[in-house]
Amino acid sequence: MLKAKTALVTGSTSGIGLGIAKCLARQGANIMLNGFGDSEAALAEVRELGVRVAYHGADMSKPAEIEQMMQAAEAEFGAVDILVNNAGIQHVAAVEDFPAEKWDAIIAINLSSAFHTTRLALPGMKQRGWGRIINLASVHGLVASAQKSAYVAAKHGLVGFTKSVALETATTPVTVNAICPGWVLTPLVEKQVQARAQADGIELEEAKRRLLGDKQPSMQFTTAEQLGELAVFLCSSAADNIRGAAFNVDGGWVAQ
Ligand code: NAD
Repeated sequence: MLKAKTALVTGSTSGIGLGIAKCLARQGANIMLNGFGDSEAALAEVRELGVRVAYHGADMSKPAEIEQMMQAAEAEFGAVDILVNNAGIQHVAAVEDFPAEKWDAIIAINLSSAFHTTRLALPGMKQRGWGRIINLASVHGLVASAQKSAYVAAKHGLVGFTKSVALETATTPVTVNAICPGWVLTPLVEKQVQARAQADGIELEEAKRRLLGDKQPSMQFTTAEQLGELAVFLCSSAADNIRGAAFNVDGGWVAQ
């Protein structure tokens, strides 16, 4: 379905980003990976799916590096047809204890990077007459939790940004939408599982049950593959008129 298309997925060396990159690759899309950590392993996992894949290590908190990454993607593949703004970090602390540099990093990586990639990708998408922008927000783009002020602010911002750009592109063949997962068991959440286990003096499995029990009525983690399949759907022609939507994939979290 996506043969001859190119997808750039930010923060795709692990977790949800890598899961989405692999689902898009299974549909034939060439992939530009980005993120920190083991890029070789991520490259190998995507290459195995028989598509062209490249990697750029741009730091999503640095606009100049984002520009270099977008240029590298165009140079390597000739286009960015699908942009998945996924890179994100978390920090958990009460607002009065929140380190200012963590606040700045979360806003830069989880929100402002999507502005920079979008402004740079959109002209080419419009010119070529097709495009998909998919922003990985969160249930925390729709509702809040205590101790996550920067993350909640950034994700609410990202949902708002999604709606605004969707309106600006409403008469074009470029669609812009957000995906809002609840708990997904990735390295980002494993840290929170460990913190809960330590705080409550319990085993990791019990900490997972308690985290789910607090918020996610299905008592199941959403998987990266489930989110990847939603991204594939948003790239299909059935989704041509889905614009500015925020899909919660959260086991019932925001239904409460
Ligand atoms: P993860 O920690 O597994 O992956 C994050 C990715 O972002 C990694 O590839 C990492 O290298 C990359 N990254 C971090 N800082 C970066 C930077 N400055 N520049 C470039 N890349 C950077 O986390 P994840 O759970 O897969 O999260 C992916 C996205 O999904 C994030 O935006 C997160 O907020 C969102 N999300 C996650 C959950 C969850 O439960 N895991 C729920 C809702 C939303």
